[in-house]
Amino acid sequence: IFQLSLPLNFLGSIYRELRQNLLDLEVLFNLQTDNTPAKDKEDAKPLALKGGSIRFENVNFGYHPDRPIFRNLSFTVPAGKKVAIVGPSGCGKSTVFRLLYRFYDPSSGRIFIDDQDIHGIQLQSLRESIGVVPQDTPLFHSDIMHNVRYGRLNATDDEVKAAAMKASVHDTVMSLPEGYKTTVGERGLMISGGEKQRLAIARVLLKDPPILFFDEATSALDAHTETELMRSVNSTLLDKARTSIFIAHRLRTVVEADLIIVLKDGQVAEQGTHEELLRLGSLYHNLWVQQASDNSLESLAES
Ligand code: ATP
Repeated sequence: IFQLSLPLNFLGSIYRELRQNLLDLEVLFNLQTDNTPAKDKEDAKPLALKGGSIRFENVNFGYHPDRPIFRNLSFTVPAGKKVAIVGPSGCGKSTVFRLLYRFYDPSSGRIFIDDQDIHGIQLQSLRESIGVVPQDTPLFHSDIMHNVRYGRLNATDDEVKAAAMKASVHDTVMSLPEGYKTTVGERGLMISGGEKQRLAIARVLLKDPPILFFDEATSALDAHTETELMRSVNSTLLDKARTSIFIAHRLRTVVEADLIIVLKDGQVAEQGTHEELLRLGSLYHNLWVQQASDNSLESLAES
C-alpha cells in the first residue's frame, strides 16, 4: 500500500497543478476569445460604465452542487476604491473573479456593475472593462512583445515598450539576448515569478480597464521583490481612480486598502479598514497576529 500511495500522491499534486494552470490559461485565453460556456442573453446590452462599482447580492455558488462555496454572499465594492479580499485558502477569493468575469454564473443571486446585472450585459463589453493580473501569469510560447501586446492587440511596439517601462520590466527585457524578441513561455526562456507579474501588469496597462483584479501570487516572492512589485502597482495601475480588487494572501499588502473584506464559510465574516478590523479583535485580528508570528511582517518592519 505504501508503495502504491506514493505515486498516487505524486499524481494528485501534478493533477492539482495542471488544473490550476488550465484555469489560469482560461483567464489568459479569454482576454482574446469568447470560448466559454457563458453566453449573451438575446437582449444583452453593452455595459454602461459610470464609476465601476461592484455589488454581489445574495450570491450562491459551488463548482459542484454538493459543495457550496458561497452562501448568500453579499458585498459592495465602491466605485474607484481599492478593496482587498482576504480569508483562508480555498474560501473562494479567486472564485469572486471567476463569477465577475462570467467564467461561471451563480446558481442564485445577482452581481451588479454600476447597478446593471452582469447577466444581462454583453460578455465582450463586460470583459473589456475588467483587467486581471492573475496569480501565476501564463505566458505563451512566443516572444515578449507578443505576450505583452495581448493586453490590447492593436497596440504599437512603442506602446508595448512604454507599458513595460511603467511596469519596471523594460530594463530586464532589454538585458535579454534578444530583447523583446526573446521567446518565453513553455520551452522558452524561464523568467521569474516577479518578472512574469510585471509583464502581466504591462498587459493590463495597455488594456487600461476601469476595473482591476489583482490576484497576488501565492508562491512566495521574496520580501524585497514583493515590496517593489506593489510599489510599481501603486504608481501605475492605481495612479488614477480605478475600482480595484486585490486578492491578498499576505496581509501586509492590504494595510492601505480602502476596505478589507474577510471571507469565511461562503460569506463575509467581517469588513472594514485595517485599523477597524484590528480593533474588532476577531478573525482579521487573529490572521494578522498569526502572520506576524510567522515572521511574514519582517519587511514591513524594515521599510
Ligand atoms: P487560495 O487562497 O488558496 O488561492 P481561494 O480562496 O482563492 O484559494 P478558490 O480558488 O476561489 O479559493 O477556490 C475555492 C474552492 O473551490 C477551493 O476549495 C477549490 O479547490 C475549489 N475550486 C476552485 N476551482 C475549481 C474548479 N474549477 N472545479 C472545482 N472546484 C474548484
